[in-house]
Amino acid sequence: MNIKVGTGFDAHAFGPGNSVALGGITLEHDHGVIAHSDGDVLLHALCDALLGAAGLGDIGQHFPDSDPQWRGMASSGFVTAVMALLHERGYAVGNADLTLLAQAPRIGPHREAICQHIAGLLGVARDCVNLKATTTEYLGFIGRAEGLAALATVLLVSNSVA
Ligand code: MG
Repeated sequence: MNIKVGTGFDAHAFGPGNSVALGGITLEHDHGVIAHSDGDVLLHALCDALLGAAGLGDIGQHFPDSDPQWRGMASSGFVTAVMALLHERGYAVGNADLTLLAQAPRIGPHREAICQHIAGLLGVARDCVNLKATTTEYLGFIGRAEGLAALATVLLVSNSVA
């Protein structure tokens, strides 16, 4: 068995609006997110971790924000498209560990729904997806609630010997 690890990071600024997409779930919030797509930092970081583990570059190469077809796109579609690339190459996800960095919104009440949704996108059992959250203790752009960010680490497994 061949195993590969990948990491991802994403950040978006808050802007006008009243909801934030996180891990494919829409959370009510006193701001929206400025983004070409739905600005889902968890799923964008996850896509980069998946692509990184497979040696397939990054999300910007596959879904450039200069391309109007991705405007307002629900980011679950990005993950599904990335998973298709991985399946073509014989990869499956071992586990995914994600961290949200935000002063707000708090994801506690939504954590289970987010993990269930991501597990479905990745085709893994619920216990193969972990979601952590932290504030930055009011430090930096996250602490000032100017935006939010996410980190993702993914393990891919394949039966190839390459
Ligand atoms: Mg992004």
